[in-house]
Amino acid sequence: LVVLKDVNKHFGDLHVLQDINLQIGKGEVVVVIGPSGSGKSTLCRTINRLETFESGTITIDGKPLPEEGKELAQLRADVGMVFQSFNLFAHKTILDNVTLGPVKVRGQGKKDAEKRAMELLERVGVAQQAQKYPAQLSGGQQQRVAIARSLAMDPKVMLFDEPTSALDPEMINEVLDVMVGLAKEGMTMVVVTHEMGFARKAANRVVFMADGQIVEEAQPETFFTAPRSDRAKDFLGKIL
Ligand code: ATP
Ligand code: MG
Repeated sequence: LVVLKDVNKHFGDLHVLQDINLQIGKGEVVVVIGPSGSGKSTLCRTINRLETFESGTITIDGKPLPEEGKELAQLRADVGMVFQSFNLFAHKTILDNVTLGPVKVRGQGKKDAEKRAMELLERVGVAQQAQKYPAQLSGGQQQRVAIARSLAMDPKVMLFDEPTSALDPEMINEVLDVMVGLAKEGMTMVVVTHEMGFARKAANRVVFMADGQIVEEAQPETFFTAPRSDRAKDFLGKIL
C-alpha cells in the first residue's frame, strides 16, 4: 500500500533520511523505534508530504505523492496523522473538529458527517464530550478525539508519531487500547512509539532507525529478544 524506494532527504548538511526502503502492506502494522533524532518523525512527515524529499519515490496505492493542490488535500485525507501534541482546533467543539475534514475535503453533507462523527466518538469513548471544547478534555480524551478525527476521513493508512508520549501514565492505555482495536480491525498503521506492549500486541513488524537509516527490521518478538545489530542492542539496553 505504501512503498518507499531509496528515499533521501537532507536538512542542510544533515542527511536525515538515507536510502530509506520500506514497504507497508494493506492491513499491516509497522512500529518504528529508534533513538531521538534518528529521523522517525521526519519519515512520517515525509510520507504525509508535510516534508519534501530530494530523491527516491514514495507511492501510495501505486500512485506517487502529489505535489500540491487538490490532490495533496486528498492525500492528507487518505493518510491520517496523529501527533504527540493533539493538534485539535482549540476554538471548535469536539464534534466540529471531527466533521470539518469530511465536510470540507470529502464533500460530505453536514448531517451525514455528524452522524458518522458521533459513531466514531462513541467508538473511541468520548461521545459524551461532543459539545465541549478541546481544553475541557483530558489529554487522553483529546488524543482519542484526534484519532476519531483522522478516522472520519476514511484514511487508507494512519501514521502515529509518539501518540502517547505527552500523556500522563494513566491515560496511555486508553489511547493504546483504541490503537490496538484499529490494528485488529485491519487498519494499515505506521506507529512511532517506544511502547513495547503495543508493539508486541499489535505490530507485524518493528523497524529500527538510527542516524537516518533503517538499521533493522524484524517481527516484534524477534527484535526485542534477539536484536541483530549492536545499535539496536544498545538502544534496547537503554529503554528496557
Ligand atoms: P525524537 O525521538 O526526538 O522525536 P526523531 O527520530 O523523530 O526524534 P526527527 O524529528 O525526525 O527525529 O529529526 C531528525 C533530525 O532532523 C534531528 O537531528 C533534527 O534535529 C533534525 N530536524 C528535524 N526537523 C528539522 C527541520 N525542520 N529543520 C532542520 N532540522 C530538522
Ligand atoms: Mg520524533
